[in-house]
Amino acid sequence: MSTENTFRFLRSATGRLAMTYLAIIMLMSIGFSIVFYNTSFHQLGRQIPPQSSVGGGFSPNEFGPDVQSFLQQRIDEGRHALLVRLVWLNILALGAGATVSYYLSRRTLRPIEEAMEAQTQFIGDASHELRTPLTAIRATNEVAMRKPKLNLQDAKQVIKQNTEDVIKLQELSDGLLRLASNTDIPLKLSPIALQEVVAEAMNQVVLLAQAKDITVNDGVANIKALGNKQSLAQVIAILLDNAIKYSEPKATVTLASEVNEKFAYINIRDRGIGIRATDLPYIFKRFYRVDRSRSKDQRDGYGLGLSIADKLVGQMHGEILVTSNPGHGSVFTIKLPIV
Ligand code: ADP
Repeated sequence: MSTENTFRFLRSATGRLAMTYLAIIMLMSIGFSIVFYNTSFHQLGRQIPPQSSVGGGFSPNEFGPDVQSFLQQRIDEGRHALLVRLVWLNILALGAGATVSYYLSRRTLRPIEEAMEAQTQFIGDASHELRTPLTAIRATNEVAMRKPKLNLQDAKQVIKQNTEDVIKLQELSDGLLRLASNTDIPLKLSPIALQEVVAEAMNQVVLLAQAKDITVNDGVANIKALGNKQSLAQVIAILLDNAIKYSEPKATVTLASEVNEKFAYINIRDRGIGIRATDLPYIFKRFYRVDRSRSKDQRDGYGLGLSIADKLVGQMHGEILVTSNPGHGSVFTIKLPIV
């Protein structure tokens, strides 16, 4: 749904919901007024004692016709005044109810509006990111096609370039799918041995580390935490992948753990380029990359890794903490509740 359509839909939904709330308020107000009026009417009618009937004498509880018609007149006046007040009260209720209904319907629809805005933003960002490799593939192919003679070497170069762009597209669509699928499904949590999960995550990045001749030291102790094995392995792999990506070749990445009465901590330390303090608040945002030109590596990513990791750790009731020293490296810490 386009942004304009989204807002049109929300406007009409707010209007309809406000009308429903107002109808409920007015039904209650008018219903209450009718009951109140009828009860008062009944009570006032009971105030007139019966007219004296026998021999013209009055008992203490009986009045003559003059007094009776006077009382009846007072009662009619009272009834009229009550009716006017109730009508005014309902007019007031209509005004106040309209304001309250609008406010309540805005409040009710706010989370839906936010979700729709986030979705629109997500689709916009995603298509923007998809455009870059797609444009590159198109340009490479068009240049190749325009050449009158394409020798084997040129053709191989085109295929290589296309393959690299397709890999980027694949990584991007994988990341987008992961983000979309992780949205609201609660994870199954159970006690997991951190050493096992770390070993699994290290398997996923071993080729990347070897390609840069980077040593990964595993110093994680034999402790258990409450989490989801597969998701935690994914998070550690994302953080290790970054630690390797943003380190110079032949560097060392170190994994360590700590535990206290409530939480277990896994630290992933690198001695890479680090992150400026001004960038730290944003690195978990989707598609945020500190500075593309700083990354000399081919696999510079799409700024999705940390937002996926953050979401997964959140679903495990934990959090990711980060400290960094630009030019000297970073420490990413996964904090999880223990069993
Ligand atoms: P990307 O795929 O670009 O790495 P991430 O979401 O994983 O996306 O990270 C967001 C940004 O945070 C990165 O582009 C990078 O600038 C910064 N970053 C993440 N991890 C590190 C790290 N270990 N060292 C330096 N910068 C990092």
